[in-house]
Amino acid sequence: MSSPLVVAADASPVCLTLDLDWAPDHVLQDTRLLLQQVGLPATIFATHQSPAVTTLLALVGCETGVHPNFLGGADEDAVLTRLLTAFPTAAGVRSHELYFNSRLLPLFQRKGVRYFSNDLMFLHSGLQPYYDWSGLVRLPLYWEDDVHCLYFDGRFDCAALQLDRPGLKVLNFHPVHLYLNTREIADYQAAKPALADPAAACALRREGLGIRTLFLDLVGRLHPAQMRTLSSVAEEFRAAHRFAGRTPERFALQARKERAP
Ligand SMILES: [Zn+2]
Repeated sequence: MSSPLVVAADASPVCLTLDLDWAPDHVLQDTRLLLQQVGLPATIFATHQSPAVTTLLALVGCETGVHPNFLGGADEDAVLTRLLTAFPTAAGVRSHELYFNSRLLPLFQRKGVRYFSNDLMFLHSGLQPYYDWSGLVRLPLYWEDDVHCLYFDGRFDCAALQLDRPGLKVLNFHPVHLYLNTREIADYQAAKPALADPAAACALRREGLGIRTLFLDLVGRLHPAQMRTLSSVAEEFRAAHRFAGRTPERFALQARKERAP
């Protein structure tokens, strides 16, 4: 039996998040069953539409964000528009591979993005939501599964996450690492070509300690009362703090000028 989690003294929330990363449906079905079993709220950053994505996003307590791939010189407006059209309830964005450039900020404002959870401050104590210079609410990530594998190189106990320290804890898992029970990123690289085939992928799941066992250990220690979705954290922050800058007005003016004939 797992011992109860030590809640940080400042009672900062813990936010479970998932980047779907185009995982095949059989992998996403596994994630849905895991989330259903643990019954905790989660924020899910969608990359594509499929039957398994639809059922995953419909889970009680789950909230939708989008996970655009802006890499490779993509048309950023088109990529984001396509995803926000497919997932109209999405309030927030996290870019694939945490890509960012400052041209995205006026685009996010134009599209009504409410928060951006894209800055990985791995295991930093005292993280908080903040406004960037554009007026966008940023929710930094505290921990991510693939980075954990690299950083700890074989350690998969919950204590490594130091969740008793103060500050916001945005935790990010990938369905494929939950499914494979990834221990090393090389496991995932080797499994990638076989992932679409359920039987071949199943044969590549790791026994023993890994990301899946860490997830199960973690969620067994989390209490629903300390869990929040990213939207609720962002909106609470917005309600408590007014953005002091004029950037949103400047961006809106610039957009009107660009639209004018
Ligand atoms: Zn990604």
